[in-house]
Amino acid sequence: MNFYSCTRADLALALQQANIPAIHSEALYKNAYRHGNITAPWSGPHSTSKDLETFFLSPSPAGSPWTFSLPEFEAPLESTEDHALKFGVRLADGYVVEAVLMPEKTRLTLCVSTQAGCRQACSFCHTGRMGFTRNLSTAEIIGQVLQAQQWAAAHPEWLERAGLPVTQRVTNLVCMGMGEPLDNLEALRGMLEILLDPFGLQLAPRKVTVSTAGHLDGLRELVSWNTGVQIALSLHAVDPALRRKIMPIEGRFPLEQVLAFFQEAIAAGTSKPPLVQYTMIAGVNDSLDIAHQLSALVHGLKPKVNLIPFNPFPGSAFKAPSRERLFAFQDILKQAGIPTSTRFSKGKDIRAACGQLHV
Ligand code: SF4
Repeated sequence: MNFYSCTRADLALALQQANIPAIHSEALYKNAYRHGNITAPWSGPHSTSKDLETFFLSPSPAGSPWTFSLPEFEAPLESTEDHALKFGVRLADGYVVEAVLMPEKTRLTLCVSTQAGCRQACSFCHTGRMGFTRNLSTAEIIGQVLQAQQWAAAHPEWLERAGLPVTQRVTNLVCMGMGEPLDNLEALRGMLEILLDPFGLQLAPRKVTVSTAGHLDGLRELVSWNTGVQIALSLHAVDPALRRKIMPIEGRFPLEQVLAFFQEAIAAGTSKPPLVQYTMIAGVNDSLDIAHQLSALVHGLKPKVNLIPFNPFPGSAFKAPSRERLFAFQDILKQAGIPTSTRFSKGKDIRAACGQLHV
């Protein structure tokens, strides 16, 4: 059993079953997640019981030994344009996924992968061309955050180069790397619990974004957890036939039903408006007529919209729209009262931008 797949409630229960006060889970979490005592969280500035080392040397409740293993970060590629870093993340069974660390003015955002490959096969996404290999565990997702924190702490020269203080650590997390997060709910739930836990990584919910291509079953589940994290909906096409062509998930979960779900959840106070992501592909979904249709479609949700020019990758015939078209499309949405920004993805020169991750 991997310590880093355990929520604090799991850990408290395991301790109780061994007749150790559950309260020690708090100190174990602080030592591991706040102080980076990754391989021996029973030792550290937050005192724990002497029995704990023995506890972790005994079999876990699952009957297997306790482990403290995290995925390994390979040496990163650094963008010469914006200092974004792309890491290969090597999993214990040899599979590799990718994580991207993006410095901004006052924050450091980590984009994590939740699956090796992806089942959704969106045609504008390089990951979608890989097919699906397997889900990542909670430990493999949270491990990307821990490794990124340790990497940043060990590389103050990179933080300085990127214009950040040398003490800067990851402040924001986006699940926008490889995989559809809502297709891996169990691991996602554990990861969010640890991430938001006041004794764990202690991120504020508004600093965490879970992106989805519109996995309605997963959305229902995510909203029912009541975490307060931001949900980003990858919309990308208004017309159902076009959406189905570029996003096969439309066949299983039509956008109309996804938007109706958000309407109900917002009205019931169980969800905030989603952040709508719209990748603009020249000649495919970037006409000004479509901009009007998009504003009519999402207006009732009062969302923010991010327009992302398509990021090219080998083997794709798609192209990004001109800047003129991008800004004309944005103006139409803004004039309809929808806050809309254009997002030029970081790390394009190292193929770390939206839709470019692939191993
Ligand atoms: S865009 Fe997201 S959901 Fe679609 S194939 Fe790529 S990783 Fe999967």
